[in-house]
Formats: sequence, structure tokens, C-alpha cells
Amino acid sequence: MTTILLVEDNEMNRDMLSRRLRRKGYVVLEAEDGEVGVRMALSEDPDLILMDMSLPIIDGWEATRLIKANDATRNIPIIAQTAHAMADDREKCLEAGCDDYTTKPIHMPQLLAKIEGLLKTIVTDNPSNLY
Ligand code: MN
Repeated sequence: MTTILLVEDNEMNRDMLSRRLRRKGYVVLEAEDGEVGVRMALSEDPDLILMDMSLPIIDGWEATRLIKANDATRNIPIIAQTAHAMADDREKCLEAGCDDYTTKPIHMPQLLAKIEGLLKTIVTDNPSNLY
């Protein structure tokens, strides 16, 4: 059972994306701001986080930095989602500690490929799986 924490403040986007992810078999937890997102990353230990960057209370950049600064949550892969397709956004996301990055509107096949790719990386990164 793979759990995804979706941090998204726009209710319509959140509902639509969680429905689509649940249909693919993922368990989806939802947070509506960055502060709740950071707290749930710690309490729920999800397998992956989808992080909107434009969020109230704590934005996605800061929430990502906090999650990656905590030993208990730093290994959870984070895919950033931003509405901007600026050339330096990818760099900014990676600097904040995101593992990957997508732009809105969401292209579902591409997002699913990134999710599956990152979940696979966790398994192969674990040295005990080499033996
Ligand atoms: Mn937003």
C-alpha cells in the first residue's frame, strides 16, 4: 500500500488529483497548507509527497526545506508542483530539496511516471536490496 501526501491549498485541484491517484491504487492523504503538510509528513510518514509551491502559512519552498532538514522525514521523496514554467524553477526546486518537479496544469501520465520512478529509486537506493 503506497501512501502519497498531497499538499495543495486549492480544493478543486486537491479533490481532482486525489481522486485520480486513488483510482490508480494509491492511498492519498491531504494537507491544505504548508504547516499541516510538514506536520503530516512527520506523523504519517508517507511514501511520497506532492507539494504545491504556492501555499498559505508556509509555502511549498519552506515546507520542503523543513521536511528535508528533519532526519525523520528527509528521505521522503518530494515532487514539487508549480504553476510557473520559468526556466529557473527546476533549479529552485532542486535547491529547496525537491526530488523532482512538475508544472501545472498537471499532465497525469507524466506525473504518474515521475511518482513511479521515484518510488522505484527508494527501493534500489537501499543497499540491503543489492543482496
Ligand atoms: Mn496553491
